[in-house]
Amino acid sequence: MTIQEQYDLLEKTILSYNPQADIPQIQAAFEFATKCHDGQKRKSGEPYIIHPLAVAQIVAEELKLDSESIEAALLHDCIEDTQATHDQISKLFSPTVADLVEGVSKLTRIQYATKEDEQMENLRKMLIAMSKDIRVILIKISDRLHNMRTMEYQTPEKQKQKSLETMEIYAPIAHRLGMQRIKWELEDLSLKYLDPIGFEEIVSKLDAKRQEYDAFMNKTQEQIEQRLTELSIDHRVYGRMKHPYSIYRKMFNQNKQLDEIFDLFAFRVIVDSVGDCYNVLGVIHDIYKPILGRFKDYIGTPKPNGYQSLHTTVMGTDGIPFEVQIRTREMHEIAEYGVAAHWKYKQGGVGGGTEGRYEWVRRLLENQEGTDAEEYIHSLKVDMFSDEVFVFTPNGDVTNLPAGATPIDFAYSVHSAVGNHMIGAKVNSRIVTLDSTLKNGDIVEIITSKAAKGPSRDWMKIARSSEARSKIRQWFKKEKREENIANGRSAFEAELKHCGIPMKDVLDPEVLPGLLKRVAYGSIDELYAAIGYGGFTAQKAVSRMQGELNRVAKLHQAEKAAQDLAAAEEKTEEKSTAPAPKAVKSEQGIIVEGLDNCLVKFSKCCTPVPGDEIVGFITRGYGVSVHRCDCPNASLERRSLPGQEGRWIKVSWGTDVNEKYQTSVELVCKDRQNLLLDISAALSTTNAFVMGIQSRSTEDKFAIFHIDISVHDGKHLRDIMNKLNQVSGVLKVTRPAG
Ligand code: MN
Repeated sequence: MTIQEQYDLLEKTILSYNPQADIPQIQAAFEFATKCHDGQKRKSGEPYIIHPLAVAQIVAEELKLDSESIEAALLHDCIEDTQATHDQISKLFSPTVADLVEGVSKLTRIQYATKEDEQMENLRKMLIAMSKDIRVILIKISDRLHNMRTMEYQTPEKQKQKSLETMEIYAPIAHRLGMQRIKWELEDLSLKYLDPIGFEEIVSKLDAKRQEYDAFMNKTQEQIEQRLTELSIDHRVYGRMKHPYSIYRKMFNQNKQLDEIFDLFAFRVIVDSVGDCYNVLGVIHDIYKPILGRFKDYIGTPKPNGYQSLHTTVMGTDGIPFEVQIRTREMHEIAEYGVAAHWKYKQGGVGGGTEGRYEWVRRLLENQEGTDAEEYIHSLKVDMFSDEVFVFTPNGDVTNLPAGATPIDFAYSVHSAVGNHMIGAKVNSRIVTLDSTLKNGDIVEIITSKAAKGPSRDWMKIARSSEARSKIRQWFKKEKREENIANGRSAFEAELKHCGIPMKDVLDPEVLPGLLKRVAYGSIDELYAAIGYGGFTAQKAVSRMQGELNRVAKLHQAEKAAQDLAAAEEKTEEKSTAPAPKAVKSEQGIIVEGLDNCLVKFSKCCTPVPGDEIVGFITRGYGVSVHRCDCPNASLERRSLPGQEGRWIKVSWGTDVNEKYQTSVELVCKDRQNLLLDISAALSTTNAFVMGIQSRSTEDKFAIFHIDISVHDGKHLRDIMNKLNQVSGVLKVTRPAG
């Protein structure tokens, strides 16, 4: 066929379903595209215009779209591959046509990498969301169909890559849009390149039996129709054969041979009423022998997506089994065109039952039967994902965010530490302001710094996602609080030192509640936090506690004096037979007040090391478990729970501490090459004994390390944490607790 003949066929096809088509504009688009692509050749050596012309033919023949879509199909590669611009097309044709062409070009530019299922799902959604106008995706699918049909001229590498993409992205979209025929063709063409041997095997087997199969189909259809006519049941009967890819999948998944597939042939009988459905079932089972266990009543028990039908498999003449689906016209329409219902089911019911949202899909599909083309174009607005935006992370993963989302939302969707350390953002490699709105297909990169001050209050107003907002709120509550507590604590400690009161006297579980009552705070942290942000002063706190503290300090002094005296006496009366005063003896370096030789273990939740402030908990049968005072499991609230008070006990570090204490640190890092190597290197300079490193990556390039080490004491641990903090990429080093 010459190019002109091909074009004439296109006009003829269009006029057959749309007599009002704007033929002069379509012709102008054809001529403009011919001029634009002049001199360009396809891989096959043919003039390039063959391709847009063929795409337009698919758009007309298969989808029966309006004039603007045909024009856009003819022009679809002009912006991408030639000098033509959006402006030019907008002036010569219409802004809508220019938008459609631009839309198709945008989709062409997306780079896909094979990802896990969830990612593919997001990619598909993004494509549809990016299309804005459903016609864009319809033209794009037609474009892909023609490219797949002519894939033989591409390199084997390109064939595989495009086929995979088609299989994973375009065929599922075609399926959802109810374009079953195009979906099958896309799948079969892809399979041909993805598994040439498997494909060839199926096709040649089918070809060998083609005549036999055709004869069987015709005969069976006749038999059924004849019986139904005799019984005056109004009916339509359609027969179809499974297409190669679905045969392939069945053979592959269920490890079956071609002749073991029961539903290679299927017939569909459409009748007027539910009563007739069961009548037809009886008729079918009367003509053919049903295969046991293959009858399914989806009318009595519809599938979760609303699908209704009777399915049965019977043995046909010549021993060929086939499936029969029986349903009413209404059920058929829902089954064939109910993409919306199907879609919603797949999405797990997102969208909250708003039938109206999916109205356009139903309209689109109804109209594929070829009625009023003009009318239906107006319903082709994609609003399915209008409340979501899909963006890429730098390594190509797709993240979906609420529409209007900003880099702040993106950062917090990666990890709260990323958001909290954000100092800037890049969109498509350009620095942008943090309040800029992200668009579908944007590649977003977050710039972080260890020195970042954390989120500002304004971010709460800028962020669109509730996830980001709540993480920011948490930061203000917690991170700021930690800072306040740390500041407040050092001020308080300094003041105590100034007054000559040891910290441990304050933290004495017997004394602390009384002290806190005097300053009217619920916990020591609350007191610190208040001092930290300036709501209270350390001087005031200490002076209010003074009376009680003096009493305790004196008590301790007396105790110490008594001990010293005892020790001195012991020294001088070494040979004395008198009972020796109790020496302070420790277990694993821990002195448990009032208890000797008791079993001591370090709690797994906060892994204390010498130097940490600690408290003991008398477990049932396992001795004393030692916690850090700042461990959430040993919080003052916990300690004062009913039944718990008596079990918390004062413990302290002895002088005869062990060599090694097991503990762990957690690192939040911006991932990069050799990060683990550098962390290991840093650890090796600290003389720490590393017992294990577990790492996990967040969705974006952030890594969280959990390192189990053994250390000598608190100072050693702090040294290690400092060293780790200096490794480039490390955002935060903490001791996990609780
Ligand atoms: Mn193209």
